[in-house]
Amino acid sequence: MTDDPTRELYDRASSVLVGGVNSSVRGEPYPYPEFVERAEGATVVGADGTEYLDYVMGYGPLLLGHDLPETVREAVAAAVDDGVMYGLSTEPEVALAEFVIDHVDSVERLRFVNSGTEATAAAVRLARGVTGREKVVVMQNGYHGGHESFLVEGDADDPRPGSAGVPQAFADHAVPVPFNDAEAVTQAFDHHGDEIAAVITEPLLGNCGIVEPVDGFHETLRELCDDYGALLIFDEVITGFRVGGLECAQGKIGVEPDLTTFAKVIGGGFPVGAVGGRAEYMRAFTPTGDVFESGTFNGHPVTMAAGLATLEYAADEGVYDHVNGLGDRLRSGLQDIVADHASEFTVVGTNSMFKLLFTGEKGDDHFPRTGGDVRAGATDRWARLLRPAMKEQGVLLPPNQFESQFLSDAHTEADVDRTLEAYKHALA
Ligand SMILES: *Cc1c(COP(=O)(O)O)cnc(C)c1O
Repeated sequence: MTDDPTRELYDRASSVLVGGVNSSVRGEPYPYPEFVERAEGATVVGADGTEYLDYVMGYGPLLLGHDLPETVREAVAAAVDDGVMYGLSTEPEVALAEFVIDHVDSVERLRFVNSGTEATAAAVRLARGVTGREKVVVMQNGYHGGHESFLVEGDADDPRPGSAGVPQAFADHAVPVPFNDAEAVTQAFDHHGDEIAAVITEPLLGNCGIVEPVDGFHETLRELCDDYGALLIFDEVITGFRVGGLECAQGKIGVEPDLTTFAKVIGGGFPVGAVGGRAEYMRAFTPTGDVFESGTFNGHPVTMAAGLATLEYAADEGVYDHVNGLGDRLRSGLQDIVADHASEFTVVGTNSMFKLLFTGEKGDDHFPRTGGDVRAGATDRWARLLRPAMKEQGVLLPPNQFESQFLSDAHTEADVDRTLEAYKHALA
């Protein structure tokens, strides 16, 4: 027996849940995962009552922080009172689609699903169905959720399954290339141009320490897709309605994809995903076309109401100015802290996303360029030293070097300054 309530919960969980958790990343922290009792603003409270300033923020969805604004609470309560779900169409799914289409230029039609994983699975099926081709160019160390098409690794000459249980046949349809490597993508099209259905990429690598695009990279993808008749898919599951404000990362970058996947922020904290894009492609989904897509919980009324109220609040209340300003303050403060150790650390991120990498390269004006650059760093030091030292000071970071950290509307300048002090001590 133990008098540590977290330990007790973990013991119970381990007897009934695989590894004691329901998502593998949650199982990484030692000696055992955090269990949350409740949260408020920018703070989570653990099962043992300890309060932490939270930068996990649900792994991205919680743009507004842990407290729902009154308008969101009311929208959720009304949707629940009205009947939770029906398997029939409702007004909120129309309204949320209208909002997204009003703000994201490349999107003319949407299909709501229930997760980012479902969204990228549907998007790639659509691209294959529309083009009649099977290969998909993917970025090494990109992340598009847990399904067969994208659990792949290796390179263009040797694509391999990225998980046990994924048939080699799926990997054979992938062409993995390094992010930011226009030459490698051009070569992939040289070799396989008439077999490539799509290029899928995150606008920035958001699940591998944050890697930003070099100027011109997405333009090259756009041109190659146009030249060869392939579809360009932006996976904006993490960046959508977080980076680039209401126009999303594609507005900030100035490149329009054919299809976009969304999730995370657009559900207001509830499970969600969506595929959006040009009407000429989107109409290939069933029921108007022959690319199958369907789901019991698609367009869930509670999620749709929460998502719409969340995005309207973000639009009306200056949320992006606030969180992006905090992001600038945090990143420049961190920069100052590690300034004398430029070869050991790199501060990365944009808008309300940030991360400190345990790697650095003097002289390269765009570092890191690839996910491989991030992976080559002292990634174990992050998990062994930095995270525990920050947690000790009441600041909760994700469990590894690769997951991004997020600011929310609930964070304050005082929170940022406190966080910088904690980094200073942790890195001393
Ligand atoms: C989180 C994420 C996914 C997967 O979304 P889930 O809702 O976890 O299935 C896909 N793509 C990107 C870029 C993500 O960040």
